[in-house]
Amino acid sequence: MGEFELIRHYFAAASCARAGEGVALGIGDDCALLALPAGEQLAISTDSLVVGVHFPESPDPFLLAQRALAVSVSDLAAMGATPIGFTLALTLPSAEPDWLAAFARGLDWMAQQCAIRLIGGDTTRGPLSLTLTVFGRVPAGQALTRAGAQVGDLLCVGGELGDGAGALPLVLGQRQAEPAVAEALLARYWSPLPQLDLGLALRGKATAALDISDGLLADCGHLAAASGVALLIEQERLPLSTVLQAWLGLDAARQAALSGGDDYRLAFTLPPQHLAQLQAAGWPLRVIGRVEAGQGVHLLDADGTPIQSPQSGYQHFGTSS
Ligand code: ADP
Ligand code: MG
Repeated sequence: MGEFELIRHYFAAASCARAGEGVALGIGDDCALLALPAGEQLAISTDSLVVGVHFPESPDPFLLAQRALAVSVSDLAAMGATPIGFTLALTLPSAEPDWLAAFARGLDWMAQQCAIRLIGGDTTRGPLSLTLTVFGRVPAGQALTRAGAQVGDLLCVGGELGDGAGALPLVLGQRQAEPAVAEALLARYWSPLPQLDLGLALRGKATAALDISDGLLADCGHLAAASGVALLIEQERLPLSTVLQAWLGLDAARQAALSGGDDYRLAFTLPPQHLAQLQAAGWPLRVIGRVEAGQGVHLLDADGTPIQSPQSGYQHFGTSS
């Protein structure tokens, strides 16, 4: 199968490549064309996933595609942006029809969840890797950036943390778990649905936001630095799933929540007056701490005493991981 036939068959013909709102021209020309409503800004983010680094050798193609897209769209959620389209630069060792068909199905599935369309890409031969660029729209001035957290704000997250990291030994085949546990954790790892609706609900309310991809401590460190504040996290308040606690025990579950990546939940700072209304509306937000003057991220025990924590998250060129 030639490159053009492959693109036509698996990508241009995918249901996620159909024309839709905001896409004036999709796959097939030299560029795609996006139409942005007046008064809106374009939100853009790129993520690369490389075999052996971001996913194990020989991943399930359906799961790989849906996870790759979810991870990328999560950045739009974190900005409070509405998805429009994405491009896919795909490097493949060989063109296997079954693999490509399953990959395209996974892409379709997640694209439908996120209401985003495939608008272009590039296809090359080499070790398996994917680069996705996502495009979204947000009313001018309303994007949720990392800067803007204010002293006195609450620090919140969009749900339970640590399941993605807890799933890693299962993903890598290093450990086995009973089916109920494995299913719950692996679903969080392979299919982390971007919190797009929450991102929209936080527009005009949250003062700063990001998605947790490298671990809560590391990502909160980015938010603290961008905002020029200190973030205090109360360890007791970390939301942990019962599955994760049963699987790892409390201490390791906390460690997974603090330092493990792969959660793709939103973390954000919120002026206290907005809390009750968002909770009443049923948003899955959990208060885990607060913003104070200063810098860095500080972990506190139940009495408010600082806990020494290994300040870590995954860094590709770091000395620690
Ligand atoms: P060019 O030579 O102009 O870069 P290509 O031959 O690489 O064009 O691609 C032809 C068309 O197919 C373009 O519209 C491109 O965006 C699209 N395309 C290529 N690879 C992919 C892919 N993996 N997924 C979606 N669209 C793709
Ligand atoms: Mg090209």
